[in-house]
Amino acid sequence: MDFNPCMKHKVVRKAVREFAETELGPIAGDLDRESRFPWEVIEKMRPLNFFGLQIPKSYGGADFDSISYAITIEELSRVSAAIGLCVTVHNSVGAYPIVRFGTAEQKKRFLPALAGGERIGAFCLSEANAGSDAGGVETHAVKDGDAYVINGTKIFVTNGGVCGLALIFAVTDPENAKSGASVFMVEAETPGFSVGEIEDLCGMRANPVSSLFFEDCRVSGTHLLGRPGDGLRIGLAALDTGRIGIAAQALGIAQAAFDAALKYSKERQQFGRSISSFQTIQNYLADMSTEIDAGRLLLYRACAFKDSGGPFGPEAAKAKLYCSALATRVTNLAVQIHGGYGYSKEYDVERYFRDAKVTEIYEGTSEVQRMVIARALLSRPT
Ligand SMILES: Cc1cc2nc3c(=O)[nH]c(=O)nc-3n(C[C@H](O)[C@H](O)[C@H](O)COP(=O)(O)OP(=O)(O)OC[C@H]3O[C@@H](n4cnc5c(N)ncnc54)[C@H](O)[C@@H]3O)c2cc1C
Repeated sequence: MDFNPCMKHKVVRKAVREFAETELGPIAGDLDRESRFPWEVIEKMRPLNFFGLQIPKSYGGADFDSISYAITIEELSRVSAAIGLCVTVHNSVGAYPIVRFGTAEQKKRFLPALAGGERIGAFCLSEANAGSDAGGVETHAVKDGDAYVINGTKIFVTNGGVCGLALIFAVTDPENAKSGASVFMVEAETPGFSVGEIEDLCGMRANPVSSLFFEDCRVSGTHLLGRPGDGLRIGLAALDTGRIGIAAQALGIAQAAFDAALKYSKERQQFGRSISSFQTIQNYLADMSTEIDAGRLLLYRACAFKDSGGPFGPEAAKAKLYCSALATRVTNLAVQIHGGYGYSKEYDVERYFRDAKVTEIYEGTSEVQRMVIARALLSRPT
């Protein structure tokens, strides 16, 4: 077992860190304050293959291994979690299901534009009555000749306001709640597809999370991913991969908060000494660093399981559960170490604190991760 990063992973981290600090660092706070999606940075990310991280090279992607992928999301999120979110959702739950379940024809049609970032991907499962319970999806797709006609509303769609291609979960067999959902690849210019108001969120404010509406939205049968009724299977596989991305995002936010707290603790003087000389503050820093190290090990272990080709769902769930919780704890302590200034928008830790919380909610809440982990534990023979 080798705990040292290999040269490839060191190179990826250095390159992404430099890019993120140069291009996003000076504007990340403003993007959050203005709820602005930075198209000018996206333009620069396109040729660098940020949108084709796990797409095969034959379709224009970078074909990264999972640890390189996690490092990329971690480093982007360390500077701007909202842009880390855009990239991870696009790659892991937008593009990856097509890589894994698409036909040769579908891959040829959809993957190059996703890999090049000309189309930003979105994943549309959640609805007003279908959150943790994906079986509650009410959006439906009715077969009409060779086509399907989709009607329904999706909520909380990451990248919703900027997406060019959305994976839509819709019921095709209303008689069968569990196996009745299917997935459709729908281009944003399709008649009947429209974007709702951008959500006014606590964090991730630079990502245009929105509702998407489908009104008699007609797509060809060639836009069906997998077979009719494969929705749950595709959704769960996408979320296993997605959870690696969210764990990486959470870790990146926590790392940023820790770095800021360490620096501030050495600079801030009280009682005639730097606050880092107080044992309590040292204990906080030690705990934060230990948790981040532990989370990183869990995350890279999930990546190794994925790349070995075996099942990795419970490992990804453990990484997401732990990394999101540690991000909440670490950002909370980072605010505490900054005292009143940590509660002010003048300091970035206030943004990290707001951004961290949602990593415990999306792509399966922490309660759902525990269900995934427990199900795997209980299904093992004793
Ligand atoms: C910023 C943001 C971005 C998002 N992006 C997307 C996206 O791109 N695509 C998408 O499809 N969705 C997205 N979502 C939606 C997100 O995935 C859901 O919010 C999440 O799955 C939880 O669903 P819910 O909000 O309906 O909560 P609910 O499912 O109503 O849960 C409420 C509470 O009950 C708990 N709970 C529910 N069922 C159980 C159970 N069986 N046992 C124990 N506890 C339970 C939950 O854990 C939670 O604590 C996003 C959400 C946010 C906030």
